[in-house]
Amino acid sequence: MLKMSPKLRLRLLQYGLPFVVVILIACIKFIFLNELHESIFLLFFCAVLVSGWYGTLRSGLIATVISGLVVNYIFIPPAFAFSTDPPSLYSTGIFFIEGTLFSIIIKAHSLARKKIAESSERFRIVAEGVSDYIVLILNPSGEIQSINNTAEKTLGYNRDEIIKLNISNLYNTKDRRRRLAKKHIFQAIHKGHKEISGWRLNKYGKSFWIQGTLSAIKNNDGSVRSLVAVFKDMTREKIQQRERDDFISIATHELKQPVTSIMLYAQILYKHIQTQSSIDLKSVQLTKNLIDQLNKMSELIKFLLDFTRIQRGKIILKKEKVNLQEIFGQIKASIHQSCPEYKLFIENNEKNYVIADRERIRQVLVNLITNAIKYSPNSRQINLKTISNKKHITIFVQDFGIGIAKDKQEMIFSRFYRIAEKQTKISGLGLGLYITSEILKKHASKLYVDSQLGKGSTFYFSLRTAK
Ligand code: ADP
Repeated sequence: MLKMSPKLRLRLLQYGLPFVVVILIACIKFIFLNELHESIFLLFFCAVLVSGWYGTLRSGLIATVISGLVVNYIFIPPAFAFSTDPPSLYSTGIFFIEGTLFSIIIKAHSLARKKIAESSERFRIVAEGVSDYIVLILNPSGEIQSINNTAEKTLGYNRDEIIKLNISNLYNTKDRRRRLAKKHIFQAIHKGHKEISGWRLNKYGKSFWIQGTLSAIKNNDGSVRSLVAVFKDMTREKIQQRERDDFISIATHELKQPVTSIMLYAQILYKHIQTQSSIDLKSVQLTKNLIDQLNKMSELIKFLLDFTRIQRGKIILKKEKVNLQEIFGQIKASIHQSCPEYKLFIENNEKNYVIADRERIRQVLVNLITNAIKYSPNSRQINLKTISNKKHITIFVQDFGIGIAKDKQEMIFSRFYRIAEKQTKISGLGLGLYITSEILKKHASKLYVDSQLGKGSTFYFSLRTAK
């Protein structure tokens, strides 16, 4: 078969196409509509349209010029359609201008269509490329417009079934009753982006856990064109996590009872040794060490019990008016006793009252100050400071210890996360900051960190002022 070069193809489209179309239309006029003594403008506009649509802008312009010439000078009836008298020349001129505008509009339209097709194709390639992810395109009311292959496989619906289905159909009954899908869309539209995780249902009612983001795509005028949901099916990880949490919960509860009993026996033993007529100092010291270690163990168990309670949503706050000065004083006294070499400097207005759960806020501060001590091997100063306004009091815990690298700062609030380097000797479970930030979340607050590696860290959060 004869192979045409792209250049020749372009030439033929640019010049050949308008000639062929105009001749074809002229023939139609001659053969079928010769008796029709009506204006033939519209008929020849078809030539401009076809040439502009299938050819290039130049094809449309050429079709405009030759249509005008054919009608006016090759003298297709009705003869009075175009002639050389001024009014006819005027209408020929108008035809040229209209044809030119028409060609430009058609070309712009076809370019826009091509761009849209290209970007949809690019999107399709990207969406199919991320084969681990479920990708859904939604309109602003949540109707699904497009999905990738992974979404088809995970959700169990084929493309035709899912198109136009509202995303709320993937939520379980409880979440549907809470209108959670609508809330997620609202937040994604207003913030531009929403992190989402939770259980969803496939076509056959089977649950799967997703984690990902819902992002709004906006037009130039700020209106929302569509939403893109990119999720990962994390069902297996979620189940593993649940099994691990269950194990921690069972193990902690099983440990609690014997540790409490051993502690009791150790304390009785300690008292017993001290009441002996000849006190064996070695035994006294050893029993004291035993009690110290058991205290550490009890602390760890307390941590794990708190973690379990948080996981099960079982932390219930008893909010009341709390005087911060009082809590700060108690903490200072206990640090003075347990770590006398560390100095806690307090900068606080003694009339600072907040609405909080007293014990939980004390726990938050103890966690942060314990960390400040733990991670400051070469500095002995810790600052505890408050700044208040009418609505909130912000509490800062500052140390001058080892600090935290920028890229690790976001992760330290996750469960079981510990920064490995340089800290192998500092013990911990990686739960303190997780528990702290979960307790603060329950107070509608958030824990933040400002830190510089080698220079120290400042952790801070705000609480509602009590009147
Ligand atoms: P843990 O102290 O038991 O490891 P946390 O959840 O309290 O667990 O802290 C998580 C990680 O954050 C720690 O392992 C440590 O690397 C880092 N970190 C926390 N507080 C500080 C601090 N004040 N200075 C430096 N690093 C800190």
